[in-house]
Amino acid sequence: MASSPRIGAKYTLDREALQNLIVELTDSGYQVMGPTMRDGAIIYDAVRSIADLPEGWTDDQEGGTYRLEKRLDNALFGYNVGPHSWKKFLFPPRQKLWTAKRSDQGFEIHPEEEEPLRYAFLGVRSCELHAIAIQDKVFMEDAYVDPVYKARRENLLIVAVNCGQAANTCFCVSMNTGPEAKAGFDLALTEVIDNDRHYFVAEAGSERGTGLLEKLSFESADSQEEAAANAAVNRAAEQMGRTLNTQGIRALLQDNPDHPRWDDVAKRCLSCANCTMACPTCFCSTVEDVTDLSGDHAERWRSWDSCFNLDFTYMGGGHTRHSFKSRYRQWMTHKLSTWHDQFDTSGCVGCGRCITWCPEGIDITEEAAAIRKTPKSQEKKK
Ligand code: SF4
Ligand code: SF4
Repeated sequence: MASSPRIGAKYTLDREALQNLIVELTDSGYQVMGPTMRDGAIIYDAVRSIADLPEGWTDDQEGGTYRLEKRLDNALFGYNVGPHSWKKFLFPPRQKLWTAKRSDQGFEIHPEEEEPLRYAFLGVRSCELHAIAIQDKVFMEDAYVDPVYKARRENLLIVAVNCGQAANTCFCVSMNTGPEAKAGFDLALTEVIDNDRHYFVAEAGSERGTGLLEKLSFESADSQEEAAANAAVNRAAEQMGRTLNTQGIRALLQDNPDHPRWDDVAKRCLSCANCTMACPTCFCSTVEDVTDLSGDHAERWRSWDSCFNLDFTYMGGGHTRHSFKSRYRQWMTHKLSTWHDQFDTSGCVGCGRCITWCPEGIDITEEAAAIRKTPKSQEKKK
């Protein structure tokens, strides 16, 4: 075993050490969440051992298409992101906010209080680390801090996994968000399968990460092992299925609210909201009150909402966006343009989920490119 692990240095772990990592995290009181297979997709759920991981499986993704396929090897992380993202754990899809009970003095409000959950996320990809960092800004850095998100986030431990392949719908290289995890993790792993040898090159990103390594059986990575890990990440970078030209995109979209492409996409968009549900950065929610028939008990719930829903931002007795055109334009312009004004970052990390999970295969990279091809200034010259 090498001497005490250091942040930023590279070490190797074998498959057994990965199993021990899951056991160590569980024994330390973490709920380990990671990739599992269910209903023909890779989704994030409880992981108790490496047997729960989708060993030997990969995914084939295209606009509106997702299929799992067997791999020729026994890789544990040989696939890309699926329909779920980590936001479902930090920002739950449905959350009770408070309960009201009738008493002799009137209604008493009892805010919902939860024991802070201690999650360890296993298998977080680089684009997803960036998505979590964006949601941190939304939920914790503004004047209005979300207590549920904050409590879960502060207890969170992250084991990232660098991508060794890219999906056809990935474009993290364009968004400068991957495929290599550079920050925001406690431990980052790169899976290497080299002839008969199956191992992980590990890097600690925090003292919690070095503390974890100390409890595992690790060796310092030699130059060949480091080169193999770098080659895996470079392969993923070269396989990006999509690109998005981000140069000047903030102004491009704000200057083109009447571009004919918005009418074109409106003919294809079903306003189903899949893209916003699958997106790891979308954060909108609505609040509903639920009462029982006795009239003695009421609850207030928060649940995910979408700018594609007709009732979204309903106010003053009216809807704000009647047409599919206005909803798609709002979503894409917010993601790639006005998000910068609001949060000083793009709202898109290039994960490709909105492309894969759109039933019409509508592609944000294609829509942006179409507007760039004939921007407003050129249209006027015609
Ligand atoms: S862009 Fe696609 S996923 Fe999004 S609302 Fe329209 S049809 Fe649904
Ligand atoms: S907009 Fe699409 S590609 Fe960008 S982060 Fe959201 S789901 Fe991923």
